[in-house]
Amino acid sequence: MSDQAISNLAREERTFEPPADLAAQANVKADIYAEADADRQAFWGKAAERLAWGEPFTEVLDWSNPPFAKWFVGGKLNVAYNCVDRHVENGLGDKVALHFVGEPGDTRTITYSQLKDEVSQAANAITELGIETGDRVAIYLPMIPEAVIAMLACARVGAPHTVVFGGFSSDALASRVEDCEAKLIITSDGGYRRGKPSALKPAVDEAIAKLGDASPVENVLVVKRTGEDVAWNSDIDVWWDEVVGESSTDHTPEMFDSEHPLYVMYTSGTTGKPKGILHTSAGYLTQAAYTFWATFDHKPDTDVYWCTADVGWVTGHSYIVYGPTAEGATQVLYEGTPDTPHKGRWWEIIAEYGVTLFYTAPTAIRTCMKWGEQIPAEHDLSSLRVLGSVGESINPEAYVWYRENIGGGQTPIVDTWWQTETGAHMITPLPGVTSAKPGSAMTAFPGIGAEVVDDAGKPVGNGEGGYLVITEPWPSMLRTIWGDDERFKETYWSRWEGMYFAGDGAKKDDTGAIWLLGRVDDVMNVSGHRLSTTEIESALVSHPSVAEAAVVGAADDTTGQAVVAFVILRESAKDVEDVSADLRNHVAKEIGPIAKPRQIMVVPELPKTRSGKIMRRLLRDVAENREVGDATTLADSSVMDLITDGLKDATSDED
Ligand code: ATP
Ligand code: MG
Repeated sequence: MSDQAISNLAREERTFEPPADLAAQANVKADIYAEADADRQAFWGKAAERLAWGEPFTEVLDWSNPPFAKWFVGGKLNVAYNCVDRHVENGLGDKVALHFVGEPGDTRTITYSQLKDEVSQAANAITELGIETGDRVAIYLPMIPEAVIAMLACARVGAPHTVVFGGFSSDALASRVEDCEAKLIITSDGGYRRGKPSALKPAVDEAIAKLGDASPVENVLVVKRTGEDVAWNSDIDVWWDEVVGESSTDHTPEMFDSEHPLYVMYTSGTTGKPKGILHTSAGYLTQAAYTFWATFDHKPDTDVYWCTADVGWVTGHSYIVYGPTAEGATQVLYEGTPDTPHKGRWWEIIAEYGVTLFYTAPTAIRTCMKWGEQIPAEHDLSSLRVLGSVGESINPEAYVWYRENIGGGQTPIVDTWWQTETGAHMITPLPGVTSAKPGSAMTAFPGIGAEVVDDAGKPVGNGEGGYLVITEPWPSMLRTIWGDDERFKETYWSRWEGMYFAGDGAKKDDTGAIWLLGRVDDVMNVSGHRLSTTEIESALVSHPSVAEAAVVGAADDTTGQAVVAFVILRESAKDVEDVSADLRNHVAKEIGPIAKPRQIMVVPELPKTRSGKIMRRLLRDVAENREVGDATTLADSSVMDLITDGLKDATSDED
């Protein structure tokens, strides 16, 4: 389909109905909403029954001391047993758990029975290294099977993990290790990235050196991945192969209380300093598993699932490690980048493994749009039956491109809104139920209470915008900010009585569907009009020349704030003349003259976090000619230089 045809389709405000065959066989049907509404707690209680319990719970929810929730009170279970052992006991030992694909092309197939052995060995090994229930373990690994194994081994012994994205610096690692006082770091010599080995162990050594005498780290467990030389401190360093490989595969999982801490995950840091979000066991696993099953319509006998997120992000926790394995899924785990060794790598992997359910981020889709539809067109993607999106609003243009070029014009797309804090999907279409609108996350998941409220905390009417809040406790909710209950209350629960405030702006359209509008902090005020970043960005992306866009409000003498847009052009539009004027007029036409950007800056890249989210606050610094602020959570720290250097040469488009 041509770019223009996609633009037209994206702008028609049409809905996409679920395919009839998918709807007929869907895991959940439309009546699920009424069932959940009738008795929210009974609904989640039933979802929890899908797990294997060592001791049954006696109460679904204890909300006597808000905002501190206890879910599945009195119950005991082992998370790793639920994710691994029970499938083997159910006769699925030979089922593939992981199809690992290394960036250089090496592969490994791991069945549930092999996973059980390796997780048991790792559990024995870390116990041998002195890790006890409740101790914290930091995991700093590339996307290799050991990352999944290490997380499940920690869960198995009840030692909360904190996974630090492998692309992060030693500073980021040190601050997280210090904040949660990790006794053990599990890492590797390195991993493969963009066609070459990229070292990890040196950053661990640096982090420990930085912490000095205050370092809580007693051991570093090192996986050999690249085989490159590493500095070795024999007092604390041990090889994974030697200690895990030599351990027994017999390990009896202990049953832990429902509220036993499972992990601490630091947020992306898109808006500021990352917060250590604590998740606990049974409620988290219940919602991660149930949403995986319902949102992706997962069929354990036939589906092959692939989520492209990194395990260093919450999506990797809930929708690679815990949700899919709890449901006994077969999944692809890919180490590398989408364009190594060529830009069709993802699509090649989908064709090779017959991937049926695919979950990625809008940023990746926009990058693929930039590269052009001819690349996926070379691969057979007909196995796909549900596509997912997470991390940011998906622009209608990108949604339609995704559906047409990856989904063959018929696969439903689930645009899943959730956060590190929420642990699992909160607002999303259901693929066999929802008439989906491109750009909208649609409605609250069954059993979840979501609302859009005004300044006074009153629900807004259809057609109006406001603040997105969660009105009822949910099983996978964060329990606190690690070590800081006050900050937890203050950050999330203090704005309106009894409501969790997520930090995002949203609107309800005329049918009540929810549209995420971007961070409340990013909302612009131009001559008294409140403008959403998401809406203007989507308008820009709907122009055939634009692949990606980020808009910010910059101080302006006459209008208070003015819209400044940063755009990446599509490969096909590199030679188009006078693109700025064209784009400004396009926004005026799509949204209204008030939204017309004061300035359009054409840039080669946008600053993004490790999880692919645009960091607008850094762009605001550029737009206001300030020194660029804290960029330590950027995925690629050189991007800001690339942007500022490029702009020095460019002429301004002000008129
Ligand atoms: P920090 O809280 O440290 O600033 P962060 O909010 O980027 O970092 P995450 O928890 O990874 O950290 O991201 C959650 C946020 O991502 C949501 O609050 C929302 O702004 C955005 N988001 C995620 N999924 C969607 C979606 N489907 N549609 C719109 N926005 C989304
Ligand atoms: Mg956040």
